[in-house]
Amino acid sequence: MPAIEVEGKCSRCIGTTCCTYTTEALQTPTSKADFDHLLWQISHAGVEIYKDGDGWYLLIRGNCEHLLPGGGCGIYAARPQVCRDYDNDWCEYDEPAEKHFIHHFRDYAQLLAYCRKRFKTWAA
Ligand code: SF4
Ligand code: SF4
Repeated sequence: MPAIEVEGKCSRCIGTTCCTYTTEALQTPTSKADFDHLLWQISHAGVEIYKDGDGWYLLIRGNCEHLLPGGGCGIYAARPQVCRDYDNDWCEYDEPAEKHFIHHFRDYAQLLAYCRKRFKTWAA
């Protein structure tokens, strides 16, 4: 969700990484019911879950519909505020966000394995 400079770093960013997903902060999951809910969410295509120093997040992969084939933004002048606020001084062009993940569950099986480890009484 970048500013997408026409010149400079963004123009060299193959794949325009920050326009290919969204994230949403989650309430910190603590109970089996919380994780059961996350298991439902992560069962859907493109949905992942991670935890970093700021907390737990849904990560939903999928290109923004305004991302142009060449990497520009099709609604640049009217792009959402979150895109305007994104600072490319140090971004995913410089290092992958995953580097700061404490947990990263890419699919149902990975989260289920975590649940079984975390809750000794997890059924099945
Ligand atoms: S990841 Fe960084 S360099 Fe790439 S498009 Fe987004 S802000 Fe620009
Ligand atoms: S609106 Fe533009 S800058 Fe924002 S995520 Fe979509 S393509 Fe990227």
